[in-house]
Amino acid sequence: MALASCALLLALAGYAVLCAVKPFTPCRKCSGTGIRQAGRRKVKPCRRCHGHRYRLRAGRRLLNTGRAVHRDGTRPHHRRRNDLEFTEWP
Ligand SMILES: [Zn+2]
Repeated sequence: MALASCALLLALAGYAVLCAVKPFTPCRKCSGTGIRQAGRRKVKPCRRCHGHRYRLRAGRRLLNTGRAVHRDGTRPHHRRRNDLEFTEWP
């Protein structure tokens, strides 16, 4: 049991390192070409990656979302100059 949880933790750590070092991976839908065949002689950009050829790893997307939630939850104390202009009159 301890060995299994150790292996799981190791795999998670490895994936976290992978997400930090290489956040993008080739699109699975178009296998990194960025195009899709639309008919015989017509080619269109891939719908999944919008022709960018790469997609963000799921772990990295999770990290980015977590950061955004944290930032939105902690930043209101530090108001920007633009916020002051619209909320308070001198
Ligand atoms: Zn694609």
